[in-house]
Amino acid sequence: MIRYADVMSDSIVDGSGIRVVAFLQGCPRRCEGCHNPSLLPVEGGTEVTEKELAKMLLKKLTAKHAGLSFSGGDPLMQPEALYKVISFIRNRRPEVNIWVYSGYTFEEVKDLPVMGLIDVLVDGPFNLEEKDISLIFKGSRNQRIIDVPSSLAKGNIVEFSLDKSVANI
Ligand code: SF4
Repeated sequence: MIRYADVMSDSIVDGSGIRVVAFLQGCPRRCEGCHNPSLLPVEGGTEVTEKELAKMLLKKLTAKHAGLSFSGGDPLMQPEALYKVISFIRNRRPEVNIWVYSGYTFEEVKDLPVMGLIDVLVDGPFNLEEKDISLIFKGSRNQRIIDVPSSLAKGNIVEFSLDKSVANI
């Protein structure tokens, strides 16, 4: 089972291009200035099976979409359930571009099985002191937009190329 709060069909701020976004429920942190405080309680949202959520997301993905993003809350607070959701999606649509937003750092989560299934991780908690509204796809300067397959292959952080990403918007 997985807890989610909402699904959005047409976001342009949660990754490159027009994206379907799943907002998962629950986050262990309490960052000052959190953008989604109602999504923090772990008992909130709606509980569904992983297959139900995956099917809901697949149904929303159309030709105009550049991909799918998981935000929250913190999607990596439910890593096994997220693994099942993304596995289901990848089995049917292996090409779908998948971003995950998390308050955990890459170093903290790099060994989770789900990391082998995602394209980009926007990592680290929101830090109000480093907030910068000119940043693209992230809220504070401490956060990194990470190319996950390249980082896992090289064993160190490879930042995602935003030039390429913005060109696709
Ligand atoms: S990690 Fe994200 S969702 Fe969690 S408290 Fe911080 S800003 Fe809010």
